[in-house]
Amino acid sequence: QVCFIGRSNVGKSSLIRALFSLAPEVEVRVSKTPGHTKKMNFFKVGKYFTLVDMPGYGYRAPQDFVEMVEAYLQERCNLKRTFLLVDGVVGLQKMDNIAVEMLEEFGIPYVIVLTKIDRASRGVLLKNVLEIQEFVKENTQGCFPQLFLVSSVEFSGVHLLRCFVAHVTGNLPTVEAS
Ligand code: GDP
Repeated sequence: QVCFIGRSNVGKSSLIRALFSLAPEVEVRVSKTPGHTKKMNFFKVGKYFTLVDMPGYGYRAPQDFVEMVEAYLQERCNLKRTFLLVDGVVGLQKMDNIAVEMLEEFGIPYVIVLTKIDRASRGVLLKNVLEIQEFVKENTQGCFPQLFLVSSVEFSGVHLLRCFVAHVTGNLPTVEAS
């Protein structure tokens, strides 16, 4: 499994749609913990891997997020990588730190993906990238040092991310250089 988390409105559903735009036969299963308003979606890609879409966190439902995500991460079965989505226009926000702290505490390997890069000016994007790189270097243990920059509108970075997901789930055969 790989799991996608991020603030509500960060562009998570758009990115998942973009990632699966070439695979319309993906099977989606929705699970909802009783009493919770938010749900988790499971995108099963045949026998290859499952992408778990976590409820978005934000001011409206921080409790749901913490309880559901914490429960999932603690029981995680075969979770190969977590993708933490951060809005490329506004950069890392206070709420994102809750997710970072949780991932660090549980020792979960994760990757930061910067979304909506088509909406950010180059200057803003560079500032956000540098700030996040500095933050990752100074404050994290489990975060992959390379950021992924994506736009689901322009499809930029989507194929590289697709390949990375295939790679971490063991579905990208490596070719030996001769
Ligand atoms: P979610 O709540 O994280 O699932 O976010 P959505 O995927 O529903 O996106 C929230 C809003 O951002 C919607 O209005 C999308 O159209 C917009 N959005 C998502 N991804 C992009 C992107 O790559 N570029 C731009 N310009 N807008 C985006």
